[in-house]
Amino acid sequence: MKILVPVKRVIDYNVKPRVKADGSGVDLANVKMSMNPFDEIAVEEALQIKEAGNAEEVVVVSIGPAKAAETLRTGMAMGADRAIHVATDEEVEPLAVAKILKAVVEEETPGLVILGKQAIDDDSNQTGQMLAALLGRPQGTFASKVVVEGDSVAVTREVDGGLETVKLAMPAIVTTDLRLNEPRYASLPNIMKAKKKPLDAKTPADYGVDIAPRLKTLKVAEPPVRSAGIKVENVDALVAKLKEMGVA
Ligand code: AMP
Repeated sequence: MKILVPVKRVIDYNVKPRVKADGSGVDLANVKMSMNPFDEIAVEEALQIKEAGNAEEVVVVSIGPAKAAETLRTGMAMGADRAIHVATDEEVEPLAVAKILKAVVEEETPGLVILGKQAIDDDSNQTGQMLAALLGRPQGTFASKVVVEGDSVAVTREVDGGLETVKLAMPAIVTTDLRLNEPRYASLPNIMKAKKKPLDAKTPADYGVDIAPRLKTLKVAEPPVRSAGIKVENVDALVAKLKEMGVA
């Protein structure tokens, strides 16, 4: 079995995003970019399934600008076998990403596609679900545990007050939640080895997908600045203060 892992290059999760002065979006100039954290978890899970003898190959795919190739190299340094880079400088919305991934899936025929549950830049949480719908395949989303059993996969998700497990017939689509695993770091020798692994260069046109945006961003704004709190001496002072503010 082959596992396909879509990985997105996003603003690093440690960076505090700045909104552009004209409110048209987030300023990405000179900002550290990294693999979407949920996608690192997806790569790790695919590698663990391969290491357990349940898959032969892990392929990473990214749709994005030239630098997305660096993100793919990171995936290969973690252990993925090869990569597909669908190059575009346009912003690609989840529906267009899902359409491109559908075409990649039809070409590669993976038994599992493991995506992040959401990309932390746009927080859409749509691509995996759209891909499953476009392909007419079973989906298990927000996985906190994934167990491959023959030609099916059991996917557990944390729900209010417990755990829910669904069993999917493969080929299937899975999206990862934060507690699924701890992604490995790439070692220096593996970073060197990754430079020699195959990276296929494609474009959206190769897959016949129109990536023209369907959505228009009206305005992006910083969250309102919170005013500083005050400290009170004791409970009596707290109650008096709450009464004064009209909330008690
Ligand atoms: P989203 O629906 O945008 O929140 O993204 C969910 C998941 O879809 C991500 O965690 C990735 O696994 C995948 N994905 C989204 N955009 C891309 C992209 N441009 N290239 C590769 N994978 C992507």
